[in-house]
Amino acid sequence: MGEFELIRRYFLPLAGQQKSRSLILGPGDDCAIQRIPAGRDLVFSMDTLVEGVHFPENYRPDHLGWRALAVAASDLAAMGADPECFTLALTIPVADEQWLSGFAEGLRRASDAFGLALAGGDTTSGPLTLTLQVHGTVEEGAAIRRTGAQPGDLVAVSGTLGDAGAALDYLSELNPSPDVAGLLDRYHRPCPRLDLGRAARSFASAAIDVSDGLLADLGHILDASGVGARLDSTRVPVSACLFRLKGDAAVTYALRSGDDYELCLTFPEESWRRAPEALRCQLSVIGRIESEPGLYLDGIDCSSGATPSGFDHFRRKS
Ligand code: ADP
Ligand code: MG
Repeated sequence: MGEFELIRRYFLPLAGQQKSRSLILGPGDDCAIQRIPAGRDLVFSMDTLVEGVHFPENYRPDHLGWRALAVAASDLAAMGADPECFTLALTIPVADEQWLSGFAEGLRRASDAFGLALAGGDTTSGPLTLTLQVHGTVEEGAAIRRTGAQPGDLVAVSGTLGDAGAALDYLSELNPSPDVAGLLDRYHRPCPRLDLGRAARSFASAAIDVSDGLLADLGHILDASGVGARLDSTRVPVSACLFRLKGDAAVTYALRSGDDYELCLTFPEESWRRAPEALRCQLSVIGRIESEPGLYLDGIDCSSGATPSGFDHFRRKS
């Protein structure tokens, strides 16, 4: 099977231009064309996943297809953007048909679930690596940035945290218990909070997706906004599965491990009060923004180098 046959067979079926209002030419030509309506901003981001670094070797291809797009789409969620389309640069060692059909199936399911049409890409041979660029749009000026947190704002997170990070302890489990299966599902099939991000657009002052760990990612908001925060660890949401498996250590996973792709948002108190109940009930308030820099957890400063948090490629894992 040649390169073009491979693209035609596995990737063109994902083009589905109808998924995106702005994509007017999908894969097949030299470029794709996206027409951004007047008064809207294009919001775009790129993510690379390298085998052995971002996902385990011999990782199930359908899980990889889903995960790759979910992780990329999570950045759109964090900006409150409406998803439109994506491109895929795929480097594979060999054109294994079974692998490709599994991968394309996972990717297709994610593409349908998130409303992101495949606009084009590039296919090459080499060590397994994926780069996805996702495109979204928002009304001019409406994207939620990391820079908007103000002293007095509430800090909130969506869903529960720590499950996906804890799942790494169980990836090779052959007969997982129901609790372990629950964690593994969070790792294999993350769900970017696209609807929540969009709903929060006119209420939140800042947002980030939790990919590297809550403390690390909230730290990025604090740095960008030039503020600090105080958090109450008892209010950090953990799932019942994680609590049963890890006991008191569950909170540490929730604070420090990544891969959950939940959102961390800040809200001026008055915006929080007028936000719809449907938005607020998806979030847990875990603390408050302060003018004094630093990230305090139960009164203890955890922003210094003494307690490293999160994942950094060039520092290795904490
Ligand atoms: P060119 O040589 O002009 O860059 P390519 O041969 O790389 O074009 O790709 C031909 C067409 O197939 C392009 O429209 C490109 O977007 C699309 N394409 C290539 N690889 C992929 C892929 N993995 N997924 C989706 N579309 C792809
Ligand atoms: Mg090319």
